[in-house]
Amino acid sequence: MSQPRHAISFDVEEYFQVANFYEQFPRAQWDSVEPRIDVGMDRIFGALERQRTKATFFFLGWIAERHPHWVTRCLEAGHEVASHGYDHQFLWNLGKEGFADDLARTEEILMAAGAERPSGFRACTFTITRRSWWAFDVLCERGYRFDSSVHPVRHPVYGVHDFEPGISRVTSPDGKGSLLEFPVTTYPIAGRNFPAGGGGYFRLYPLAVTRAVLRKMERLDRPAALYMHPWEFDPEQPRVRASASKRFRHYVNLDRTLSRLEALLAEFDFGSFSQVLAGRDLI
Ligand SMILES: [Zn+2]
Repeated sequence: MSQPRHAISFDVEEYFQVANFYEQFPRAQWDSVEPRIDVGMDRIFGALERQRTKATFFFLGWIAERHPHWVTRCLEAGHEVASHGYDHQFLWNLGKEGFADDLARTEEILMAAGAERPSGFRACTFTITRRSWWAFDVLCERGYRFDSSVHPVRHPVYGVHDFEPGISRVTSPDGKGSLLEFPVTTYPIAGRNFPAGGGGYFRLYPLAVTRAVLRKMERLDRPAALYMHPWEFDPEQPRVRASASKRFRHYVNLDRTLSRLEALLAEFDFGSFSQVLAGRDLI
């Protein structure tokens, strides 16, 4: 197995499932919205294939249940299949028991589609924070080996601003297990960490910023972890009525994501989360 320096990941969800648009698309209506997942996934797969790169796909169980062929295609292409939970709920709304059920349900769906039991997890909207730290008890109990849900930034909803921004081992609060935390990338400026791993920030900042971040991570010997979503590769998606700030966050520079991803994959050495962790003898 090759030993890539940085990790690249995709949270497999629809444009109408983002926390930003919860009001416009209640869960009960999701099945009545026309799916767009194929558009983004086809473009991502094309870029990964052209650049001979393996990635980690954190699937919503809800998506894998309705589009199991994407799990199959990931496996055929040698990508890693991981869990993004069932239907994109904040962990503190699920509660500890609810989270265990949500993980189990998603595992079953992924395995029914042919995947192995997932060993990696990313929570909806980075919602492992100090108030949902019990999530590590559940993840360890269910045998997860890595997690990418803690965002070491200051943010009104999520974030643990003083958390280690590199890869670290977290012991579950009940003391019974541990796993590796591999947070999405942040950039340190004057003692504070700023988000630099993906999402709206990746589309908003010029590509030169992301390049500089990746070079900085290489100097720190800290593997970067980037994340993107299929809907970010779909500039033709239906436009949603929402506040100007929500629309900006969702739609800014959607038409540039694909070429930017491809430029990064060509210039830097990316792989799946498990490949990066294995290359550092961590799993
Ligand atoms: Zn998500």
